[in-house]
Amino acid sequence: MKVLVINTGSSSIKYQLFTMPAGDVLCTGLIERIGEKAGVLTHKIYPCSNKEVKHIEEKAVRNHSVGMERIAALLIDAKFGVLASANEVELVGHRVVHGGETFSSTTEITKRVKDKIKELSPLAPLHNPANLIGIEVAEQIFTKAKQVAVFDTAFHQSIPEEAYRYAIPSKFYTENGVRVYGFHGTSHRYITKRAASLVNKPLDKVNLITIHLGNGASMAAIKNGKSIDTTLGLTPLPGLVMGTRSGDIDPGVIFYLNEALGYELNDIKNILNKESGLKGLANDNDMRGVTERAAKGDKEAQLALAVYTYRIKKYIGAYLAAIEAPLDALIFTAGVGENSAIIRAKSVAGLAHLGIDLDIELNKVRGGERKISTKNSAIDIWVIPTNEELEIARQVYELKSITRYVS
Ligand code: AMP
Repeated sequence: MKVLVINTGSSSIKYQLFTMPAGDVLCTGLIERIGEKAGVLTHKIYPCSNKEVKHIEEKAVRNHSVGMERIAALLIDAKFGVLASANEVELVGHRVVHGGETFSSTTEITKRVKDKIKELSPLAPLHNPANLIGIEVAEQIFTKAKQVAVFDTAFHQSIPEEAYRYAIPSKFYTENGVRVYGFHGTSHRYITKRAASLVNKPLDKVNLITIHLGNGASMAAIKNGKSIDTTLGLTPLPGLVMGTRSGDIDPGVIFYLNEALGYELNDIKNILNKESGLKGLANDNDMRGVTERAAKGDKEAQLALAVYTYRIKKYIGAYLAAIEAPLDALIFTAGVGENSAIIRAKSVAGLAHLGIDLDIELNKVRGGERKISTKNSAIDIWVIPTNEELEIARQVYELKSITRYVS
């Protein structure tokens, strides 16, 4: 069965076509700068025959509808296509960023589901409206396929109330839904399943700390296979230091910037989302540049690494306590977590007395799946590459077999 996974942003569409249940990738692609003068489409075929073909188009893509039509045409193109007909796509899985408290699992898309995604847009104003456009366009193009939503927030719906409530007046929760939701749920879920199998534990018995370090970053405390706490919150701003986002700050900083320094609320929002994190500390949002400079003795870059890794270490301590049971493994994943030995090493330095002991030689790994703790480490440390698209395809495929899909 062919499953198409779609991740629509405000000016982009990412796609990946799978054969399920094998999980083989047939093709992947990305359209960027939708609505701008110069759009770029990159389409890559991975036939299981070893032939690898890359196709790039540089021309304006007027809107998401035009973009999705182009994707459908490429899937069946004589030269670059992998299907005989677009109707071969039986399921389309959409990444949807915010599912609020309504969606705790993968859900078939109906009119009511779309209305709810729209209603939740104030909680994810940059993402949910774009995700909705992707759904509506795909419904018109892949008319034979079931459309399914996989929510970034769903995996964290198991977080208990003491962890998801903020200590602010209760009416903001009961009337307005202000609480911790968490994000990157698809990645944390994928890593949790993979780690359970690597440490030979049943999924409902595994205790983990999962550390997703990409451009956005978050950690999750996993107890008995379920998320019980996470560092992102109502929005993707708190917690760890990110590429351009601040992570945790004293909320009083906002009032100080406003009242004492005269910044408008919109400026502050921009500063905390786009000018902070690594960019704010080291004037570079890409960890590669920051680690290279730090290695050459650049003090600003060294400080950025110290703040970044200290924050991770602090949450490791917090989550060891929150889990209240022996931890099986600590996992690093995503762009920084999979590739940066120095960030992994600094994040767990000095934790051997807690049973977290990194092997410096094994830690010299980039991109692969590997255990990087010493033989004496009570807790395993692993690098596991994340695969959100495959997890979405699996979720969508599994849903087909357990819900009201009757073909
Ligand atoms: P992601 O959001 O998971 O795609 O991660 C993107 C981030 O991974 C980029 O912003 C880079 O900072 C980081 N990254 C990728 N490769 C490396 C590397 N070799 N060393 C350090 N950071 C890296």
